[in-house]
Amino acid sequence: MNRWDQKGIPHKGWECEDVIDLRGDDAAEDTAYAVCEMCGNERIRFVHRMAHPDGMSLGVGCVCAEKMTDDYEGPRRRETHLRNRATRRARWLRRKWRISKSGNPFLNIDGKNIGVHRSKFGGWGYHIDSTLSRASFATQSEAKLALFDALFPKV
Ligand SMILES: [Zn+2]
Repeated sequence: MNRWDQKGIPHKGWECEDVIDLRGDDAAEDTAYAVCEMCGNERIRFVHRMAHPDGMSLGVGCVCAEKMTDDYEGPRRRETHLRNRATRRARWLRRKWRISKSGNPFLNIDGKNIGVHRSKFGGWGYHIDSTLSRASFATQSEAKLALFDALFPKV
C-alpha cells in the first residue's frame, strides 16, 4: 500500500511528534522492524510518529518523514541520536565501573561524578554529582540504567 498515491492523504504540513526505536532498550533483539505506513516500502527500525492538523496520524520511515515535514536533516539527525544512544546504553552495564571507598560503583564521565549506591530503604539509588535520585530501584543494574537515562535523554 502506498498512501502517497491515495486521494485525501496530505503530502505536506505534517509534524513529527516522536521517534520510536522499535528495538526499545534491549538492543539484543535486532529483528524488530515495522513497515512505513505512508509508502508501504521502507522497512523501518525507527518509527517517526507523524501528526497532521487534519487529525490524521501515521508511523513512517525516515524518507517519508523528510518529505512530509519538508525537513531533510531533522529526521535523520534524530535517528542517528537514538541509534548512538541505544548502542551506548547497551554497553553501559558492561563498562568498567570503579568502586568507591564505601564500596559503591562509580564513574567519572564528562566532568561528572556519577554512581549507584544501596539506598536506606533497601534497593538502589544513583547520584549525579551531589544530586541523588528520588526513586529507588530493585537492582543495581536498574539503577545504573536509570542513571543513564537521566544523563542522556532520548531527545
Ligand atoms: Zn515511507
